[in-house]
Amino acid sequence: APAPPPARHLFSDPAEVEILRGSLLAWYDRCKRDLPWRTLVATAGGVGVVGASALTPALLPAVWVSEIMLQQTQVATVINYYNRWMQKWPTLQALAQASLEEVNELWAGLGYYSRGKRLQEAARKVVSELAGRMPRTAEDLQKLLPGVGRYTAGAIASISYGQATGVVDGNVIRVLCRLRCIGADSSSPAVIDRLWDMANVLVDRSRPGDFNQALMELGATVCVPKAPLCGECPVKQHCQAWRRNLFGKPLPVPDVEDCGVGDCPLCPPATEPWDSSLGVTNFPRKTAKKPPRVMRTATCVLERRGCHGAPEYLIVQRPSSGLLAGLWEFPSLPLAQDLQEEKEREELADHLQAWMGQPVAGKGLQFIGEVIHIFSHIHQTYVVYSLHLDGDVTLDPALSPSRWVTEDEFHTSAVSTAMKKVWAA
Ligand code: SF4
Repeated sequence: APAPPPARHLFSDPAEVEILRGSLLAWYDRCKRDLPWRTLVATAGGVGVVGASALTPALLPAVWVSEIMLQQTQVATVINYYNRWMQKWPTLQALAQASLEEVNELWAGLGYYSRGKRLQEAARKVVSELAGRMPRTAEDLQKLLPGVGRYTAGAIASISYGQATGVVDGNVIRVLCRLRCIGADSSSPAVIDRLWDMANVLVDRSRPGDFNQALMELGATVCVPKAPLCGECPVKQHCQAWRRNLFGKPLPVPDVEDCGVGDCPLCPPATEPWDSSLGVTNFPRKTAKKPPRVMRTATCVLERRGCHGAPEYLIVQRPSSGLLAGLWEFPSLPLAQDLQEEKEREELADHLQAWMGQPVAGKGLQFIGEVIHIFSHIHQTYVVYSLHLDGDVTLDPALSPSRWVTEDEFHTSAVSTAMKKVWAA
């Protein structure tokens, strides 16, 4: 078995842990942001506290939905989506009856669309296979519900059911790495495992839900990535990065380089020692991300006069798996890199011909411009064309589902942010 990490990277003093918990919770009680899911949970009588009642069935999705939406998305963006979602599907039963199309429509613009789909699948599973009873422990939540990983399971179990289990998300990683001067690659499985161990040691036994939210709140509002507000931090006395910054080296424990001289699995690599110009933001460290894949896609806004004279536009549905699964878009075609413009037009014209069953001249396509959209792992350039059609077109039903929509219908359909940018162009 690997040797345990040196004590300076751990929380091994129970008295210190107790003080840290108290300071963090007191700060949270004073300073926490008013967020709609917190208000909903508060009305349920302070769940997340051992001994308090768990969420009532009517409020079961309150924490779950917020945790799924908050993955990879900022709080400010989530609030509006969350309120609309909870208004439309306040219970698991209501969500289980929703169609995927409705879910995609509401989720449109929030990104990472498989989250909404899996949330709805999981609600169906709870209602149809688990007799409407949500699993209550982190282990069962993760095992039984699609789309619920280790973090979400821990968050739901601690906040909704008061289970004393820790959570590790991006904010927690940052705070813990700074508190304990962890400078090894924070995306490596070995370091992540250590951080989970640490989160489980730290979590307050009587207020686990509040403690976990407090740790995340600290990362979101005080211990922020670029310019942390250490002066206002309620746990600075426990923070080794802060001490090191203040005194030049951590006290009273030895210097970070004394920790194992290159062998310590949690110290910064010897090739990248402490950089005093960075201060506490020396931590955490990650290996550089792979550069995003570069893609070019031709897309065409086909317009016709609808039966009432108003313009209508053709949208088609993407496959049910993969990127932007099940969302609607203007007819689009991925392009090879470095294709000449004339060739791009020809390929797009052939693609449109397959949709419309009639020849389309590449020269008839009007070039509008290029729209860039960055997905997490793809740098996508849409080459946008438009084409006005005279007369009606019979769409081939053998192809993907397609429909003509007015401008208003386009905006309320399940279309991605990228397609809204194409529309704006
Ligand atoms: Fe983060 Fe600064 Fe607080 Fe340390 S003292 S936890 S670096 S905000």
